[in-house]
Amino acid sequence: MGPKQIRIALAGNPNSGKTTIFNSITGTRQKVGNWPGVTVEKKEGSIHKFGYHLKIIDLPGTYSLTPFSIEEIVARNFVLEEHPDVVIVIIDASNLERSLYLATQIRELDCKVIFALNMQDVARSRGIKIDADKMSQLLDVPVVFTVGNKNEGVDILLEKAIELAESDIELPRTRRVKYSKDIEKCIENFKTYLEKTIGDNLSYNPRWIAIKLLEDDKILKDRVIEKTGDKGSEILEQARIHRSHIMNIFDDDPEITFTDERYGFIAGIVKEVMTTSTMQRIDISRNIDMVLTNRFLGFPIFIFFIWAMFQLTFTLGAYPMEWIETGIGMLSGFMGARLPDSILKDLLIDGIIAGVGSVIIFLPNILILFFCIAIFEDTGYMSRAAFLMDKIMHLIGLHGKSFIPMLMGFGCNVPAIMAARTLESEKDRILTILITPFMSCSARLPIYIVLAGTFFPRRAGTVIFSIYLAGIVLSILTGRLFRSTLLRGMDAPFVMELPPYRIPMLKSLMIHMWDRSKMFLKKMGGIILIGSVIIWTLSSFPSNIEYSADYAIKMKVAKQTFEEQTTLVQEKELGQLKQKYEEETKDLKRKLRTETTEKSYIGHIGKFMAPFFAPIGIDWRGSVALLTGFVAKEIVVSTMGVLYAVEDDEADALKHALRESGMTPLSALGMMFFVLLYVPCLATIATIRKETQSWRWALFSVAYSTLLAWGVAFAIYQGGMLLGFGIA
Ligand code: GDP
Ligand code: MG
Repeated sequence: MGPKQIRIALAGNPNSGKTTIFNSITGTRQKVGNWPGVTVEKKEGSIHKFGYHLKIIDLPGTYSLTPFSIEEIVARNFVLEEHPDVVIVIIDASNLERSLYLATQIRELDCKVIFALNMQDVARSRGIKIDADKMSQLLDVPVVFTVGNKNEGVDILLEKAIELAESDIELPRTRRVKYSKDIEKCIENFKTYLEKTIGDNLSYNPRWIAIKLLEDDKILKDRVIEKTGDKGSEILEQARIHRSHIMNIFDDDPEITFTDERYGFIAGIVKEVMTTSTMQRIDISRNIDMVLTNRFLGFPIFIFFIWAMFQLTFTLGAYPMEWIETGIGMLSGFMGARLPDSILKDLLIDGIIAGVGSVIIFLPNILILFFCIAIFEDTGYMSRAAFLMDKIMHLIGLHGKSFIPMLMGFGCNVPAIMAARTLESEKDRILTILITPFMSCSARLPIYIVLAGTFFPRRAGTVIFSIYLAGIVLSILTGRLFRSTLLRGMDAPFVMELPPYRIPMLKSLMIHMWDRSKMFLKKMGGIILIGSVIIWTLSSFPSNIEYSADYAIKMKVAKQTFEEQTTLVQEKELGQLKQKYEEETKDLKRKLRTETTEKSYIGHIGKFMAPFFAPIGIDWRGSVALLTGFVAKEIVVSTMGVLYAVEDDEADALKHALRESGMTPLSALGMMFFVLLYVPCLATIATIRKETQSWRWALFSVAYSTLLAWGVAFAIYQGGMLLGFGIA
């Protein structure tokens, strides 16, 4: 038999230092995933220590255990259903009162609890002293001081936790949150009733069940119905009677009364155990906030930070991007030279390396963007930004927090959608996820640059800016529409937490950044890889096309003619001749490629799709380009290059070809709007599906955005035609 296993759960408020302590206990032996069924991050790690096999679970950070948000439900269910051997509650000692709310709620459950008074250094520097022994006595739980980021006290915490797990103290323990006399009496009556009717059916502590039912806890009510069958409705009826009894006495919803009383109890404990010296250091955070959340200065400063972030992301990111691009070019050149000609080689170079490469080059941007965002988060500035945006976001029925993912959407929609995880209410999260793709991501910019540059050469900047703006406006309109139809309901009441500013730790920044980038890489790799292979296959097959001319022979003839002529002409004319020959071969290759694509599967698809795009003024080649943009928006431009038969890197040639192709400024404008609005890209769809845990939302998003894109493009194109702008 191996060492005994002990399961330890870490609970605590967001920002209390849970993850820091988790990392310091588990080091690198950890697993990150999602809780089954929901997209809330799950961290698990195990380690051998003190002769035990310790399994540590980092519960989601919450402020309470009322099942309001997914995080709270996950945390509570874990303690209730999985019965960890010990729950360590990480308490922010510099914020005792707020932290104790969750701590006392956990204390009300039947589980072995130990408190870690973390951020002891911060508390001390603010002149806050906490009497741990007294707290331990009052609440009947072991209490340990820790400083998570310096690894202080963590070993003692673990030892005590093991000791507690191995001890046979009796549960439930007696000293607990006490409510006022009327409430205690009501709880007692109801509890006795429950013990008679349910007995052990629910396997939770009856006192806790009583309290929760009196608080009208939805999840517990459902469970009572489920577990007690016929008796369920009778029990709930009893609960209703007791609730109205409390309501009569306190003239308020029982939930509110209970919350008030818990805070009363906590205030009592805080008074007993905490002393603050009069020499309290000036609260630096508050001073910083006087500037950063100032009514007049706050907003401009915020805009500046955002501007600086994008500036950094794109200017600094451009260098490594170039290196990677060069690297990929070298790789494909090397492969091209070494591998024998075969279909496999084409697939590898034109399909996989080109396709995956076009996405990998964005890694530096993403790393930098995430690094900046990690700084915003770890310093505590992010919540100030959300605070500043709150008023504006309320227009859509969302609060300021939703602004963070939208902001990130200008970089790339994928991490932006992942960032919506921080939202507490599921509806808010889905709404935010649905409107985020209208934030025009960086991959769409090249398309605008080509189209606007071609058809609005003198007003390109203005046109592009209007497109970005239109994206924001349409996301707001969509938000309002969905808020009043599909995702109706209250937004969860929400206090904008303003945690104290902290100097971020480099290690924590790196972990944050890498955690997210890793996910990005993994997912992108998979999807882009598959997408690239598909597009390549569709555009390269069938291989037995009947060409309108024999290009191979034509090339040979051209070469022969050239060689013959070189012997005849003078040295002077040689250059001219060579140029002519090169142009000729290029033209032949171009024609060959056009015909290959036109007659390939993707050409057939394009022709098939053409009627759908005709009303918005886009021909079959545009249709194919847009279709490939489905995989990644970056591909649209290069697809257009292939289809309009120009070399990829010749921007002017593409412009020329586009103008010749019958496209007008009006249809180009329509196409830009279409690009802005239609299905983001495979990666985004996959992320939507993953983050909402539902194919339905993902497909809904695809359908909605594509219809909207088509509708808007149609209005622009046909409206413009009616007004007489149709002629180039
Ligand atoms: P979580 O949200 O509870 O997981 O909190 P984190 O572990 O992410 O910690 C939030 C921030 O607090 C990080 O920047 C940590 O470096 C910092 N931190 C954690 N523990 C302590 C501590 O004891 N003292 C100080 N000063 N900072 C800490
Ligand atoms: Mg954390």
